[in-house]
Amino acid sequence: AIGGTAYLAYGVYDQKHPDDQFEPDPTKKNLVILGTGWGAVSLLKKLDTENYNVIVISPRNYFLFTPLLPSCTTGTVEHRSIMEPIRSILRHKKAAVKYYEAEATKIDPERKVIAIDDNSDIKGASNKTEVSYDMLVVSVGAENATFGIPGVKEHSCFLKEIGDAQQIRKKIMDCVETATFKDQSPEEVARLLHMVVVGGGPTGVEFAGELQDFFDEDIKKWVPEISDKFKVTLIEALPNVLPMFSKQLIDYTEATFKEEKITIMTKTAVKKVTDKTVEAEATGPDGKKTIQIMPYGLLVWATGNAVRPIVRDLMSQIPAQKDSRRGLAVNEYLVVQGTKDIWATGDCAVAGYAPTAQVASQEGAFLARLFNTMAKSEAIEHQIHDLSSSLNLQPGNTADIAKEIEAHEKQLRRIKDIKPFHYTHQGSLAYIGSERAVADVSWLNGNFATGGGLTYLFWRSAYLSMCFSTRNRVLVVLDWLKSKAFGRDVSR
Ligand code: NAD
Repeated sequence: AIGGTAYLAYGVYDQKHPDDQFEPDPTKKNLVILGTGWGAVSLLKKLDTENYNVIVISPRNYFLFTPLLPSCTTGTVEHRSIMEPIRSILRHKKAAVKYYEAEATKIDPERKVIAIDDNSDIKGASNKTEVSYDMLVVSVGAENATFGIPGVKEHSCFLKEIGDAQQIRKKIMDCVETATFKDQSPEEVARLLHMVVVGGGPTGVEFAGELQDFFDEDIKKWVPEISDKFKVTLIEALPNVLPMFSKQLIDYTEATFKEEKITIMTKTAVKKVTDKTVEAEATGPDGKKTIQIMPYGLLVWATGNAVRPIVRDLMSQIPAQKDSRRGLAVNEYLVVQGTKDIWATGDCAVAGYAPTAQVASQEGAFLARLFNTMAKSEAIEHQIHDLSSSLNLQPGNTADIAKEIEAHEKQLRRIKDIKPFHYTHQGSLAYIGSERAVADVSWLNGNFATGGGLTYLFWRSAYLSMCFSTRNRVLVVLDWLKSKAFGRDVSR
């Protein structure tokens, strides 16, 4: 039976497009996609690649299922379970797609070229070149916002990429093992076991919940001597955490954190970070400001997004982007304003929506529809052109040809009538620890706000169904079962 399951899983994984992929056609337009995140991958999934010469460029040769990234920091889910190789995604396409593992360092909209650098350490290999495009999709995401606060870049961990989650996982165990080292002073033990999370958005809240679970369910068992010293503090500048959720769920989250013994400090803004302390300014109920200095062992910085340098540089070359601050301003067809052949999706685009995976993936799917339609209408335009030329050459059956042209024109008008991008919000979900989750869900024209254990099961099934592939889904379920049965792995 195990062999059968393994064979089935391999079969699903090994699936590729049933026909042999046809090779890129140099007569077609170069469609370059920058990125392998939510926007880029959902575009690739639905794009008819045979219509273009598709080239994907990204320094990350896999798609990362970011909603489960906080679970990776504690080993509830292993990192490979939420990664899907881009090569496996591209194998499913009808026409071959080129992939370059490289960082796009500059976009030149005048010459229509992109400078790329593979940042490789391999000596002698080519690593810097240019790629030209006819159509370009910028889906490069964003970087971590630090607001220029001193010490943040040097001393904190972020939570955006797989490497960040691995670093956090190591650091947690490093703090625990060092705290139990022979003759460690009580002050140093308290510092090492103080885990500070800055930013009360969904990333900070989910991570704080996962971390407290890890401690309550596992670390405490294996290292009982620290059970009364481990402490998680969540710092948020605004008056409450999870501002995008309804009031009832905010209250529920704050009450759950209290039960879990996670300290929430709201109306507290971090101003400075050193290698061992966090300095924050707290505003009291009377409006009085006080400075607090907190020693920490692990500091996780989750205060949202900032614009990537390549995007900022592109914006500086386009006069119409002068007033845009948070990213590339796009129109209702996701065309970068001030350009004709550049589109943007996800966290690097400003389309009037929150920078979420849900928005990026709907934008990617919209662009796939748009590009498929553009190719179709171009083909019809060619047909009309050919028919019109034959109209002059064959005067005998002009009536038939004219009729055919009219039918084509009608079809063309119908196809060209693409509605602008419209985002459908399906809801927000967040895990808050101790097998509870909160959900604000839009369903059947109504909004539902729920929190608790059942919502946690809903959270699990929703995330499972959103996983990229069957392989990812199987691996995540196995990880959940494994960590339930044997506990999370506390080795570094
Ligand atoms: P966020 O922007 O949602 O939240 C960051 C928080 O940090 C803000 O509340 C801000 O007030 C606070 N902050 C900023 N500077 C601070 C400082 N110096 N001191 C203390 N607090 C400070 O960031 P995020 O959680 O990383 O999320 C980014 C985006 O991704 C959001 O749009 C979010 O909705 C989305 N997201 C959604 C989910 C989910 O739905 N489960 C999970 C992760 C991220």
